[in-house]
Amino acid sequence: MMSMNDFAVLSTGRKMPLVGLGTWKSEPGQVKQAVIWALQSGYRHIDCAPIYGNEPEIGEAFQEMMGPEKGIRREDVFVTSKLWNTKHHPDDVEPCSPKNLSYIVVVLNLNEFNSAVECKQQRNSSVASIKPTVLQVESHPYLAQVELLAHCRDRSLVMTAYSPLGSPDRAWKHPEEPVLLEEPAIAALAKKYNKTPAQIIIRWQTQRGVVTIPKSITESRIKENIQVFDFTLEPEEMNQVTAVHRGWRYIVPTITVDGKSVPRDAAHPHYPFNDPY
Ligand code: NAP
Repeated sequence: MMSMNDFAVLSTGRKMPLVGLGTWKSEPGQVKQAVIWALQSGYRHIDCAPIYGNEPEIGEAFQEMMGPEKGIRREDVFVTSKLWNTKHHPDDVEPCSPKNLSYIVVVLNLNEFNSAVECKQQRNSSVASIKPTVLQVESHPYLAQVELLAHCRDRSLVMTAYSPLGSPDRAWKHPEEPVLLEEPAIAALAKKYNKTPAQIIIRWQTQRGVVTIPKSITESRIKENIQVFDFTLEPEEMNQVTAVHRGWRYIVPTITVDGKSVPRDAAHPHYPFNDPY
């Protein structure tokens, strides 16, 4: 049986916990407690970004929980942050990191066309040019990313799945969109294993080696989402989950044109969301 929070091993040799805590939409006033609950529950991977507007509070949680006499060492916690496309100059990097971090892993967001590098950014040093090791993209059973995952494996890239539960708290949720957490094939597996749909989804991702960063500010869900290493889906059950794929993206930036909501950037020559990659 796997340990509490198994790892993906990056091409650098660094271990990246397969389950991390997402923090987008976790408001100041809530996120510090969420990160504390996560660290207490065994999470050693927190996914952040300055654009989420909550990194100072995440830094406070780190200060409270990490240190020589506090049981958790900074070097045991994998912290991802992300630079917006306008923040790639070396002078812009350090202000984009949570307080009290000696190093971070920087994910470069290129106009939402997410490319990731493990940057091992030392404070006060310039931005390193290092081979990418992690690709963070939207992935869940409705967007299984099978071709992209194979592509990543061929290049020793680890894939991180964002919005793994279908991002049900996204602001632009539409009543006609499919609800991932209500998918019958997943509900059936949840019943069989006495787990929740969220746990089946996270298990499916981790079992195929995909790092998964469910966001929650709810103590019980934070605990639930990491309790996925005490059961194993059968190979045909893994395939059943993959088979619910429908090429559905929940996170597509949109703009309104002539009163209609349309994908932003769709006319860009490098718009990526029409490709299987
Ligand atoms: P998500 O993790 O798919 O879904 C979060 C929602 O699911 C919240 O409403 C949460 O509720 C709920 N939830 C959590 N655990 C649950 C459970 N066990 N059962 C039922 N509901 C549950 O959505 P996300 O925030 O879009 O994605 C996760 C993380 O990925 C983000 O927070 C962010 O760190 C990262 N991300 C990165 C990018 C990028 O461009 N790189 C884009 C999107 C997201 P409560 O919080 O109320 O418990």
